[in-house]
Amino acid sequence: MERTYVMIKPDGVARGLMGEVLSRIEKKGLKVVAMKLAVMEEAKAKEHYAEHAARPFFPGLVSFITSAPSLSLVVEGRDSIKIMRAINGATKPAEAALGTIRGDFAMDTGRNIVHASDSLEAAEREIKIHFGNDKILEYKRSDDAYLYE
Ligand code: UDP
Repeated sequence: MERTYVMIKPDGVARGLMGEVLSRIEKKGLKVVAMKLAVMEEAKAKEHYAEHAARPFFPGLVSFITSAPSLSLVVEGRDSIKIMRAINGATKPAEAALGTIRGDFAMDTGRNIVHASDSLEAAEREIKIHFGNDKILEYKRSDDAYLYE
C-alpha cells in the first residue's frame, strides 16, 4: 500500500478544520497510520520546503508554517499520493474546484490549509523528515473488504 505525507497547516488547525479534513480522508477510504500535532521546528520546515528555498514567498512560508501547531499525518491506501492531491485541490484556491478542501475552505495561496506529497520520492522524503523513526501503525479498517475489489 502506498503512503503519503499530509499536513493540516497552522491555518487549518487554527480555523478548526482538523476534523473536516480528517473526515474527508477517512470517508474516501484512506487510512491514517500516523499522526502528530506539533509546532514544526524551523529546520524541518526549511527542509520540507527546500525546493522553494530561492522563491520570494519562502521566508513567509517558513515563518507561517512554524508559527503555530500543525497536524502531520501519514496516510495510506492504493494511489494515496494522487488521491490526496485530488482531495486537497489546486495550490491556488481560486483555481481549486469546489468539492476539494482548498476549493471549499481557502481564499489565499499562502493560507491553503493542507499539504500532500506530490510524488513517491517526495512522500518518502517528507515522511522521513516529519516522522523519522517513529512507528507507522498497521491495522485493519472494518470496511477494507468493501473499499478494494
Ligand atoms: N506558496 C505560496 N505562494 C506561492 C506559491 C506557493 O505561499 O506563490 C506556498 C503555498 O502554501 C503552497 C506551498 O507554498 O501550498 C508549496 O507550493 P507548491 O507549489 O509545492 O504547492 P502544493 O504542492 O502545496 O500544492
